[in-house]
Amino acid sequence: MATTQEVMDLYEKYVMANYRRLPKVAVRGEGPYLWDADGKRYIDLFSGWAVTGVGHCHPKLVEAIARQAATLIYMPNTWYTEPQARLAEWIAKTGFGGKTFFCNSGAEAIEGAIKLARIHTSKTVKGRYKFITFENGFHGRTFAAITATAQPKYQEGFRPLVPGFMYAPLNDMAAVEKLVDDETCAIMVEPIQGEGGVNMCDVAWLKALRDLCTQRGMMLIFDEVQTGVGRCGTWWGYQVPGVVPDIMTMAKQLGGGTAIGALCATPEVAASLVPGTHASTFGGNPLAAAAGCAVFEIIENEHLLENAQKMGAYLRQRFLELKQETPLITEVRGVGLMIGVELAQNGADLVAKCLERGLHINCTHDTVLRVMPPLNITRDVLDEALNILTDAIKAARPAS
Ligand code: PLP
Repeated sequence: MATTQEVMDLYEKYVMANYRRLPKVAVRGEGPYLWDADGKRYIDLFSGWAVTGVGHCHPKLVEAIARQAATLIYMPNTWYTEPQARLAEWIAKTGFGGKTFFCNSGAEAIEGAIKLARIHTSKTVKGRYKFITFENGFHGRTFAAITATAQPKYQEGFRPLVPGFMYAPLNDMAAVEKLVDDETCAIMVEPIQGEGGVNMCDVAWLKALRDLCTQRGMMLIFDEVQTGVGRCGTWWGYQVPGVVPDIMTMAKQLGGGTAIGALCATPEVAASLVPGTHASTFGGNPLAAAAGCAVFEIIENEHLLENAQKMGAYLRQRFLELKQETPLITEVRGVGLMIGVELAQNGADLVAKCLERGLHINCTHDTVLRVMPPLNITRDVLDEALNILTDAIKAARPAS
């Protein structure tokens, strides 16, 4: 096996340097644990990147992938395959009974949602093309997705962007109403902003968005790439406030770590995506779809929504207790196992200290620790992780 340095040297020579990588080579994962090439073990409290929701290499997931790989890995979407049909059935049954289009990533799901909203709404009012999205939102890195992402740092260097996108502050209904006109086709929002710092949407505001969209024939799109597939202790993030979108996007946890994305729309809206309007070579391929079905089965059979609620409540309580002990923590937010811990200073040093001590967590928006453990995390592992975090907090440099 290559050493850490050898792998890093190969990257230096052959891989584009568009990521700030940790100086670690991951070689193995099992449940909530990861191992690097030097044999060091880490607790993965970030599920890769909010992806391995049933833990790393869950045996049932591995079995499903191996079985499907030995049977049929790929077929084009000009054929039917059972895994794709079954996965769409899972999405409909756990959600709002919609129909699904499959792709390969979150950004691609967003692109599809944008296209669907335009083609569907312009059937009733020709030329509708505008979208309203929200400050500090994040929707991915393709062109329409960075345009929808109302954060200049993701857009710099790539202008001109896609026309028709307008931005409002989160939870501000007056600002939304000011932006809406006859050409607006959709409002798109994450039920909880993930990358933006685990920012919660007011339930009343989401309901008001729903009403406005219904009144004006606009699509309400929920970007559930991060909140979906059990992350919030419910199958879908929208089920926490109880506000149902017309279209929702998903990816990350959906394939348990295999590359898959999707968008689901009410049957009426979905009917607008007719042959020739949209497609994806790999979308809903048998391998990723079989993995997706296994993810849903594991969540259901192992009662992981309940576990996410229970462990999430425990974790938030422990963070609130920690907040009493250190001025470094100023706020604890989130629901289920999507938790944000606001720090009084930049969290990069704390994340590095945790990594040294065997804990993988994430800091977003400079000051928000994003904690998103696998849905089957146990209390013992959380306690071990919290001990490491508490120790790292004590060792963290105070802000200068
Ligand atoms: N939407 C949300 C809410 C996300 O959090 C992300 C990724 O973090 C995306 C879209 C883009 O997903 P991907 O990186 O799979 O393209």
